[in-house]
Amino acid sequence: MTSQVAGVRGVAPLLPADAARWAAVEDVLRALMGAYGFHEIRLPILERTELYARAVGEVTDIVEKEMYTFPDRNGDSLSLRPEGTAGCVRAGVEGGLFHNQVQRLWYQGPMFRHERPQKGRYRQFHQWGVEAYGMAGPAIEAEVIALGTRLLARLGVEARLLINSLGTPACRERYREALVDYLEVHRHRLDEDSVRRLERNPLRVLDSKNPDMAALLAGAPAIFDYLSPESRAHFALLQDHLAALGVAFEVAPRLVRGLDYYTHTVFEWTPHDRLAQATVAAGGRYDSLVSGLGGGPTPAVGFAIGMERLMALVTREPPRPVPDVFIMTSAPLEGRALALAEGLRDAGLRVETHLAGASAKSQMKRARESGARVVMEARDEAQVAIVRTEIAHDTGALVWAEAVARILQILGAETSSDGK
Ligand code: ATP
Ligand code: MG
Repeated sequence: MTSQVAGVRGVAPLLPADAARWAAVEDVLRALMGAYGFHEIRLPILERTELYARAVGEVTDIVEKEMYTFPDRNGDSLSLRPEGTAGCVRAGVEGGLFHNQVQRLWYQGPMFRHERPQKGRYRQFHQWGVEAYGMAGPAIEAEVIALGTRLLARLGVEARLLINSLGTPACRERYREALVDYLEVHRHRLDEDSVRRLERNPLRVLDSKNPDMAALLAGAPAIFDYLSPESRAHFALLQDHLAALGVAFEVAPRLVRGLDYYTHTVFEWTPHDRLAQATVAAGGRYDSLVSGLGGGPTPAVGFAIGMERLMALVTREPPRPVPDVFIMTSAPLEGRALALAEGLRDAGLRVETHLAGASAKSQMKRARESGARVVMEARDEAQVAIVRTEIAHDTGALVWAEAVARILQILGAETSSDGK
């Protein structure tokens, strides 16, 4: 045998069993997007590097050290998308989606960040993102948070919702000074990363994942004390809306996000048993990003779910589709089996055929694993047998030409008897 080609570190395929679980969960998410009036947008994976430098921020983990950036053959600097919001805004500006219009959008797909791979942290990972444009008040924030909360509940995921307000850029400027004063006093206790951030983007220090800094950061000034009366009223109204909807939340006064574009509300969902890499979904309001990328002034709010982290927490598995009929066969009768399968599919059924020439025993094992509602077996040129249905075994052989009608009859009867 020749040697295998290794995959890229932190980049994994989804094998069929996992892909089926994902697809079932994605069906739930898609249905919920419809229930809230959100529409799908499909976005490119490649963008100009400049987009992320401008939108995500130069002094962020993503842009400083996590992006897959390379020169295109004509010399342009391109990057694999590390997140979806910047590309969504760019596409919306270019496509004229924001001119005096309200938009509720969702997207999903792979994102790329060059991080140290570990549980819940990969180099290719997947996000499901939700973005709403054209609505400035806290009501839309409450609506997208209600959507996220419902989605987690429907999948049996238990998580705490943390919310905070970063206010307006003016509030942040006042807070920034207070934070820098505090951090300067404790400079000798900061790690190397934080010293660098202190100089270039001090709010980012609060986002440090170094446990040694937790106590120091817990004593830092809280942004709430620096919010303008308008920002406070906005945040208070959001909390009223959430309470009225019965959405449980906690105010986390030092919550900031890893991207620069947020204003006012930020939020995240974190599982109860908090691990370091545990945030499953996160987002917030980003009112200046659309204009910052060349569009008109457009308020915006959104969040993204990390699909790998979500899938690790799902306890209520949505049912996966199973075949209606599994057909066991042997090489001389494969043509017969294929034709029957096509006939059943013409009638709208899901059919799996066993074409690997295995023993009856191993075919039966495979049939059972498939979860098929009816198992058939090719007997000879004249006959095919129904080996098993959901309610009976060995219901006997019949001529090939009658098989489709008989199967429809059986499935119809079983469907009505178990009330599906
Ligand atoms: P973290 O603090 O864990 O690094 P982040 O702040 O970088 O997360 P966001 O940019 O807000 O994350 O992305 C939203 C979600 O995407 C995260 O909450 C997480 O579920 C998921 N996510 C982010 N980076 C990765 C990764 N490298 N691997 C898997 N999931 C990720
Ligand atoms: Mg990160």
